[in-house]
Amino acid sequence: NEEKIICSGCGVPIQTKDSSQMGYAPPAVLDRSVIICQRCFRLKHYNETPDVPLEAEDFQKMLTTVGDTDALIVMLVDLFDVEGSWLLQRDDLKNNKLLLVGNKLDLLPHSVNERRLKTWLKKDALQRGWKPSDVLLMSASKSGDVKRIASQIDEKRKGKDVYIIGSTNVGKSTFINQLIKMFDGDEEQLITTSSFPGTTLSFIDLPLDDGSKLYDTPGVINPKQMLAQLPQAEMASLQPKKEIKPIVHQLQTGQTLFFGGLARMDFIDGEPSQNHFVCYFPSEFKPHRTKLNNAAALYEKHAGGELLSPPGKDALAVIPNLKQQSFYIHQDKTDIVIPGLGWITVGKAGAEIDIYAPEHVEVTTREAII
Ligand code: GDP
Repeated sequence: NEEKIICSGCGVPIQTKDSSQMGYAPPAVLDRSVIICQRCFRLKHYNETPDVPLEAEDFQKMLTTVGDTDALIVMLVDLFDVEGSWLLQRDDLKNNKLLLVGNKLDLLPHSVNERRLKTWLKKDALQRGWKPSDVLLMSASKSGDVKRIASQIDEKRKGKDVYIIGSTNVGKSTFINQLIKMFDGDEEQLITTSSFPGTTLSFIDLPLDDGSKLYDTPGVINPKQMLAQLPQAEMASLQPKKEIKPIVHQLQTGQTLFFGGLARMDFIDGEPSQNHFVCYFPSEFKPHRTKLNNAAALYEKHAGGELLSPPGKDALAVIPNLKQQSFYIHQDKTDIVIPGLGWITVGKAGAEIDIYAPEHVEVTTREAII
C-alpha cells in the first residue's frame, strides 16, 4: 500500500505515479529500507531542487516556526558522519536553547576521550553557525544512554516543549523509538501525529508529564552525505555495525590505499617521506595497499571484485566515477574525511595527498576528531 510509505527525507507520502508531483519516487526504489522521494534525492546528491511544489520551504518554515517558540531544540549528530549531519539551514533558532547530541558513540574506539570529543563537537558547531548551550554524547541503540539523555532533556526544557531535529541517518528514529519504549502505556494512544501550519510535513508527538509535547521532526537531507544511490545491500556496508577499529599504515610517498571500490588515497609527496595514516572505516573497507603507479591499473582490473569491494560490480556500474581531489596537510594529526564512508588521520604535516571518491561526495579536512 503506497499511501503508507513516507519519504525519510521530508516526511511526505511517497507516490510512484506522477513525477511532477511531490513525493514521487521511481518504483524501483520501493524495496529499499530507506526510501526518499526524487526531490530529496536530487537535493541530496546534486544540491538542486526540481520544480516540485513542496517542502524545502516547508522545512525552513518549520524551523522558523520552531524558532519563534521558546521550546528546547535537540539536534542529533552522527559521530561517524559529522560532516553529513549538519543541517543545510542556518541556525534560525532565535529564542530557543539548542542541545547538541552526538550519537553512535559506540562506533568510535573505546579509548576516545569524551570530554575532548565534546569540545571538538562544540567548536565544529560554532564554526558552522550553530550555538549549542550544551553538548552530550550517546548511543541511541543503548536504552541506558537514552534514559540518561531523556532525563537531561527533561531538566533542560524547564517545562517547555521539545523538538528533535536532525539529518536523515543520524539515528533519530532509533532515539524516538527508545523514548517511546520508555513510556509505559498504550503506544497507539501515546503517539499522535500533528502537522505544522502551512506545510505538508507531519510529526510524531509524544505527550510529556506537564502537558508539554516532544515533537519528532522529519529528517532533512544533506547533500554532502554519501549513502543512497547504492542498492540496498551495498548501502548497509556503509553503516558500521560495531566499534570502528582504526588501522594504521606507514606509507612512503608513491604509495596508495584503496577503500573497497569507493575511495582511494595517494601519498603523492611529503616531508617526511614516510608518514603514518590511521584509517577509520567500516570493517568491510579494510585498506588495500599498493604502489601509486600501479593503482589505476589495479582499479581497472579489480574494482567490484574480491580485492576492491564493496561495492560489487553491479552496484559500481551505477555509482558516479571516482573524482580526484588534492590536499596539502598543514598540521600534524589532520583528518581527511570522506563523508559517510570514513576518515584518515594523517600523522605529520607536509603531506601532499590525492583522494578519489564518487563525484558528488565532497571530501574535506578537519582537526583530528580522535
Ligand atoms: P534516522 O534517519 O535519523 O531516523 O536514523 P535511524 O534511526 O534510521 O538510524 C540510521 C542508522 O544508524 C540505522 O542503521 C541505525 O541502526 C543506526 N544507528 C542509530 N543509532 C545508532 C547508535 O547509537 N549506534 C549505532 N552503532 N548505530 C546506530
